[in-house]
Amino acid sequence: MQAIVYKSTGSWYIVQASNGNTFNARLKGVMKLDGITSTNPIAVGDEVNVEEDTESEKSVIITKILDRKNYIARISPHNKNQHHIVAANLDQVLLFATLKNPKTSSGFIDRFLVSAEAFHVPAIIVFNKIDLYKKKELELLQQMKKTYCAIGYNIIALSMETKEGLSNLQDILKDKTTLLSGHSGVGKSTFINNIFPEKNLRTQEVSDWSGKGLHTTTFAEMFNLPFGGRIIDTPGIREFGLVDIEKAELSHYFPEMRALIHSCKFNNCMHIEEPGCAVTAAVAKGVISVERYISYRNILDTMDIKNY
Ligand code: GDP
Ligand code: ZN
Repeated sequence: MQAIVYKSTGSWYIVQASNGNTFNARLKGVMKLDGITSTNPIAVGDEVNVEEDTESEKSVIITKILDRKNYIARISPHNKNQHHIVAANLDQVLLFATLKNPKTSSGFIDRFLVSAEAFHVPAIIVFNKIDLYKKKELELLQQMKKTYCAIGYNIIALSMETKEGLSNLQDILKDKTTLLSGHSGVGKSTFINNIFPEKNLRTQEVSDWSGKGLHTTTFAEMFNLPFGGRIIDTPGIREFGLVDIEKAELSHYFPEMRALIHSCKFNNCMHIEEPGCAVTAAVAKGVISVERYISYRNILDTMDIKNY
């Protein structure tokens, strides 16, 4: 029987089988996982084969992980040399951001977008709390919409207070598997609790785990959306980190730069001060946004420090 992983703690799992039933699941004891250097062999969103657990009716045993379409990973919080797979088989990632209370920096947004590009997952940015925006923030929102839409990202303006933009957002989530991400305080829980009012998911999560002494670790969890599709909530995960990206390939993950890199004079151009650089020429002409270029340079600089 085939199933999809809805929750993974690293030692046990919750899966939903193709017949719609939900089971606790564990890994077959001797299962070997080839070529996996991650801390967790199975992640939320993974498609697996399961068989009956002879010891328990409510449990199944995972016998095989099917090939992943894609996945998002980050550096393991416990071991910098290992990856932690956050989720697999995604249709899109959704970044919740705000331009006020708190303000999400465009540097953070661009790092998120680079990660999404590197993992080949389409990204959407939601600017929440638009009810609080004054002239300054509204102008910034317009400017960001222009910049990001021009390079192919979907931007949504939202207020969970007035519900403006909410149906638009739900349309985008419908029938897709979406990973939800963003700094704390930007309204993710408010959004999740609005979709699942009866569950009050996050509060439940905390009390569930605290009894088991696991309250410092949070796990991604997937939920079926009432209007179709699935959402993966990642409480406590702020940033994915630029796993395995080389400095020389960073510009490949800026779509507007990627389109130009073959026009640079040198094929190893880093787009800094090289003569004949098509990217810096496009920045000078206003074809590439200066803010995006600054993000590119800032990310390059942080890669020097070698946290990644
Ligand atoms: P999370 O940390 O991303 O889960 O953020 P929360 O959902 O806990 O929201 C943080 C705070 O922002 C709470 O006090 C919410 O009531 C408030 N909030 C969420 N969405 C909006 C919004 O659209 N407008 C305003 N004014 N406040 C909001
Ligand atoms: Zn160049």
